[in-house]
Amino acid sequence: MLESAQALITKTAEKMKLDSEMIKRLIEPEFAHEFALTITMDTGKKKVFKGWRIQHNSALGPYKGGIRFHHDTVREEVQALATLMSIKCAVAGLPYGGGKGGIVVDPKKLSKTELERLSRAFANRIAHIIGEDIDVPAPDVNTTPEIMSWMIDEYQRIIGRKSPATFTGKPVSMGGSLGRTEATGRGGLFVLQALLKKINVGNDPRVVPKKGGHRGPPLQNLTIAVQGFGNVGYYFAKLASEAGFKIVAVSDSKGGVYVKDGLSVDQTMKCKKEKGMVAGCYCKGSVCDIKYGKTVTNEELLELPVDILVPAALENVINDKNMAKIKAGIIVEMANGPLTQEAYEYLSKKGLPAGRQGKIIVPDVLANSGGVTVSYLEWVQGKAGYYWSEKEVNDRLKVMMEKAFEAIWKKSVETKMPLKQAAFEVAIERITSAMA
Ligand code: NAD
Repeated sequence: MLESAQALITKTAEKMKLDSEMIKRLIEPEFAHEFALTITMDTGKKKVFKGWRIQHNSALGPYKGGIRFHHDTVREEVQALATLMSIKCAVAGLPYGGGKGGIVVDPKKLSKTELERLSRAFANRIAHIIGEDIDVPAPDVNTTPEIMSWMIDEYQRIIGRKSPATFTGKPVSMGGSLGRTEATGRGGLFVLQALLKKINVGNDPRVVPKKGGHRGPPLQNLTIAVQGFGNVGYYFAKLASEAGFKIVAVSDSKGGVYVKDGLSVDQTMKCKKEKGMVAGCYCKGSVCDIKYGKTVTNEELLELPVDILVPAALENVINDKNMAKIKAGIIVEMANGPLTQEAYEYLSKKGLPAGRQGKIIVPDVLANSGGVTVSYLEWVQGKAGYYWSEKEVNDRLKVMMEKAFEAIWKKSVETKMPLKQAAFEVAIERITSAMA
């Protein structure tokens, strides 16, 4: 992951004719903090956990990025994610650099009190290197608003004053933003809608758009399959369905369902909560019945004949084994890195202009940047001490996502590059132009 992030930055920077020292500045993290955290377990015994906070680049503003708790986390992964946060924040037009944190732990194996002690120990260790204008952490894999509330409480205790803008993803009662929970899915939908305005939204999205955009059949005719029914996948599916798209398939780790005529997202979630899985939930309107659909595996879901495919679960799910079988014309990368580099190149027909040939792939650094964008809005609210309504937050998110998309689209059309390369080029231009 680190190698491919660095390779993409290097390739883009070389194409932009940046010198080798500038490329080094884009690749190397500014700071990499590594530490051992010792906490007392419920048994009274001490246990040591390894952790990192990597601060990649601060040209555009304070470092910004989540903290993950995962038993497989390694330094290279945290560094790669910090690097990609620098790109993502620049793509989204945010005044932030990139950072990331991680602890090697399986949080399911800790009691709640142990989890709180570990979270507080982490906040204690990073307290002197973070701050609202220095580095602003947030939740990531396995870290929740409650964990953020422990961390900010510990941090504020150490500095002796309130500083709500130093962590984002907090509970609303502690200065979190309304709309943050749905933000990633909502932001992805705004980007998809902006893309559809640019192209013919008919069955073949590869047709060159006419001036004025939208001229195809109505959105109701567009089918979507969503892999992953967690925070990102569920809200994407729910909001897309409310916007008039036809969600025909969704899945979770145990498999998925295909309802050709379009499924009810809320009813499917209700059924999933009862059964513990999406498989078996063939729901239309308020009724779930086998006659409406069929079960699909996660592999089959990716290969369904849909207009839009939304991988919103794991990385590398579209790879050399299944890339030739992907039928969707548009892929919206809501998960981080759902396509391998090989699959990406194969599907986007490298080098051709966005939207002319190959699939249109909306890159993760743009598609899922709604989450960090509302984190930014939470930071602004925390700094100002003035909090917006949910509608105000959502309206601002829409404006920011559309602006981010527009810049990437423009670059893609001008340079005849697919959206991903265009996004990296826009990001690198913005970062380097802010470097002294
Ligand atoms: P989540 O834990 O809420 O949901 C993940 C979903 O994926 C669950 O439905 C789970 O059952 C499903 N899943 C797990 N293994 C699977 C498998 N093998 N096949 C199919 N589905 C499987 O996580 P999330 O917050 O929705 O994040 C999903 C992705 O989006 C991740 O790549 C994450 O890094 C990325 N992302 C999330 C946010 C955010 O704000 N939550 C922001 C940016 C990017």
